[in-house]
Amino acid sequence: MVRSPKEDVLSLVQSIAEAKQKISLCSICQNITEVDPCAICSSQGRDHTKICVVEGPVHVEAIEKSQKYDGVYHVLHGVLSPTDGIGPDNLKIAELMSRVREGGIREIILATNPNMEGETTALYLYRLISPLGAKISRLAVGLPFGSDVEYADEITIGKAIEGRGEFAPRCGENTRLRR
Ligand SMILES: [Zn+2]
Repeated sequence: MVRSPKEDVLSLVQSIAEAKQKISLCSICQNITEVDPCAICSSQGRDHTKICVVEGPVHVEAIEKSQKYDGVYHVLHGVLSPTDGIGPDNLKIAELMSRVREGGIREIILATNPNMEGETTALYLYRLISPLGAKISRLAVGLPFGSDVEYADEITIGKAIEGRGEFAPRCGENTRLRR
């Protein structure tokens, strides 16, 4: 940027400012959007009783590409990460909880990445949401542990959505081992 002509830099800054002005967060699902509510939240063709919870806008895009999901989304804008100082208040968790408390939600699909932070976040949400009565599911295997929903291909994501199962916490609870 230092070596570019001044006009180029100014026009770049201007287009970033314009994009920033046009793009805001959907007041319902928190995805980035130019219109509020976003196209998915205002669509009559979507199943509004199903919410798929994802880490970021790129994950909405990836799941949409699979064309296997007809519900709506909730974008957290990150994952819980105590080592980076990211707690529940830094994510759009309160917004998700108020959607669930409003009622009418039959299923919550926790589609955070299958890695340490993603699992921690899914477990946290599971504990928060399960007393409220909605069915909670998790993307099926097919997404290898340590992978990223964003980089999985459409077929893998489609299969993970179709084969999703009821959420069973994988850590912190060993009741299944006891008899
Ligand atoms: Zn929306």
